[in-house]
Amino acid sequence: MPLPAMTQAYIGLGANLGNALASLQQAAAELAQMPGIAQLTLSPLYRTAPVDSSGPDYVNAVAALGTTLSAQELLHLLQGIEQRHGRSRPYRNAPRTLDLDLLLFGNEQINTPELIVPHPRMHERAFVLQPLTDLAPNLVLAQGTVKSLLAGCSGQALEIIS
Ligand code: ADP
Ligand code: MG
Repeated sequence: MPLPAMTQAYIGLGANLGNALASLQQAAAELAQMPGIAQLTLSPLYRTAPVDSSGPDYVNAVAALGTTLSAQELLHLLQGIEQRHGRSRPYRNAPRTLDLDLLLFGNEQINTPELIVPHPRMHERAFVLQPLTDLAPNLVLAQGTVKSLLAGCSGQALEIIS
């Protein structure tokens, strides 16, 4: 039997309500243990000012992982973890206990009502590009290299959490 194909995926993690730092670390640990997920690496964590959102500062990170799941299965798995962390969606871009976004799924381009990959705003957000560059400094998106895109976001405040 051939082994199921493994896809390299990147997940954006964010939270700004409750114990955001603990939520992110727990979410990454939960994700790493799920069937169909292998080799999860979590980037450094960053404290960032809200972009297109409100409330307290965010904690953000990116996880790189290998998966045998489909992109849609992976999205549903992420949504299950969000729910278990008490995520509610009172209005668009509301503060959140945990947000898990599928940033990249191999080289796939997906555009369905439920899922858009690559994530449509990732290339303009320092809170995604900085941890993504930490994990994959040579990664190239449709809009340019992660390094050059990050350089273009110099106005967005971001502080590493040691
Ligand atoms: P956002 O992360 O944009 O602030 P939500 O987390 O509330 O918003 O997600 C809203 C919807 O976005 C979800 O119901 C999901 O189906 C959809 N969605 C589309 N593309 C993606 C993606 N790449 N990652 C996560 N959710 C996505
Ligand atoms: Mg989301």
